[in-house]
Formats: sequence, C-alpha cells, structure tokens
Amino acid sequence: MHPDEEALASIALGEEVSPDQAAHAMSCAHCGVLVAEVRAIMVLARDASGETLLAPPASVWRAVAAELGPATGGVDRPAERRRRPPSWLAVAAGVAVGVVLGAVGPRLMPQQVPPAPQVLARAELKTLDSNTPGGAVELLEGQDPTLDLRIRVTPLDAGPGYLEVWLINTDLERMVSIGVLPNGSGGEDFVVPRRLIDQGYVIVDISVEQLDAEPEHSGKSLLRGSLT
Ligand SMILES: [Zn+2]
Repeated sequence: MHPDEEALASIALGEEVSPDQAAHAMSCAHCGVLVAEVRAIMVLARDASGETLLAPPASVWRAVAAELGPATGGVDRPAERRRRPPSWLAVAAGVAVGVVLGAVGPRLMPQQVPPAPQVLARAELKTLDSNTPGGAVELLEGQDPTLDLRIRVTPLDAGPGYLEVWLINTDLERMVSIGVLPNGSGGEDFVVPRRLIDQGYVIVDISVEQLDAEPEHSGKSLLRGSLT
C-alpha cells in the first residue's frame, strides 16, 4: 500500500513516520518522486519567504493527488505519471510561492490572453565533462512576481533516480531546487520567483538525485548553463 497523503507530506517535511512508511517511500518510485516534488516546492517557498520551512498548502496536495490519481494498493502507475499535464508542478509551485508572498489574488489572474511572452534571457545547457550541448533554457516574462523558466533537453536518463532542476547563485555556493524534470522527457516549464533571478540565481543545473533522505544536491550534474 502507498502511504496516504498525510504520511507522504510528513516524509517530505522530515517528520517521523512509521518505519514501514519510510521504507516504502524510499523504494517506491511513485511515492519517492511525489515526496521529492513536494520537497522542491517547499524549498522554493522557503527561499522566497526567507523564513522557515512551510507545509504545502492543502491546494498543493489536492493538485498532487488529483494528478497522480488514487493510490492503488502496491501497484505503481508510471504510465499515468507520464500522461500527466507537464504544468501541474509549475502551477503548484506558483500556488506555494503566491501564498508565501501573499500575492494570490486577482492580480495573478490574466486579464486577457497575453501576447507571446518576452524572452528575458537564454542559456545553452552543456555537459560538465565534455561541454557537449544537451539542451536550452529560456527565461520568459511571467505573471509578476514570477518568471517562467522553459527548459528543453535531449531526453535524459536518471536510471533508478530522478532529475532535479536547480538554480545556482553566481557565488557558486547558494542554490535552490525548482522542481523535478520528468525522466526521459524533452523538457518542462517551471515557475521561478523573479527575486531569485535578481539575486543572482542564474545558473541552471540539472542533476541526478536518488530517492534517499538527502534533499541536498547530489553533486552529479548532467547539464549546466548560465542565463545571459
Ligand atoms: Zn508507493
């Protein structure tokens, strides 16, 4: 049985759960990626607020649960994950950031169909070892106070792990996770707070992470590039 949403949220928050539930989340790709995605949302929310870790609002969990469908005892459903709309995480992250910034409200809602978004910066993604091109990034005008980060890649294989997208500061010391890139996908769009970019988080990094208890960057970067 997959643990219920409350238990998965507790795992994402680093709270204590039963050993059975913890062991399950470590070994089940369905639950592990869910935990990782929620953790990424919370890190983003924490960074945006400069305050302590927040539990995701109920709306985030509802969005997560709705996309993944009801847990089916012991049976993982990777096909359903692949079919999910690519934008739910961005929407969920936007909700989390919006709540933190106190900005959820009419001014986040589009008043009309906008023209094609303006490209503010671009980056070419290359491998760290051989400098081989592997993708591209566009930073697009979003709905203030957020921007849209559009990542397109030659599909990457994370093996038994998953692909995490980071923004690294130009000081090469600080970094934040902005979400999970679906394994084998051609890309994804992410919502990022404009403030992060203004603060110098302009190096886009895609790493391979394992389904473990370590929320930090694994140090295994597949692609990296600087927005200019
Ligand atoms: Zn599971």
